[in-house]
Amino acid sequence: MVKIQAEIVNGKCPTCDELTMLVGLTNELFRCMNCGSDLKQHVNGKITYLPVMTSPEGATPFVKEWIE
Ligand SMILES: [Zn+2]
Repeated sequence: MVKIQAEIVNGKCPTCDELTMLVGLTNELFRCMNCGSDLKQHVNGKITYLPVMTSPEGATPFVKEWIE
């Protein structure tokens, strides 16, 4: 029996700026249920979600910290 397990967490999406549900795709990849953006989870004291998207070389991703 194969059980498909998806981790769902609440978080603020940096792409659509909404507090929404994020579905875990892998240990560190999450997808926003609101806008469908893929986010990468970074944990360094706080949990921060970074948009996963192709950005121009040298561009800094738009990042907002997750504030509890
Ligand atoms: Zn979103």
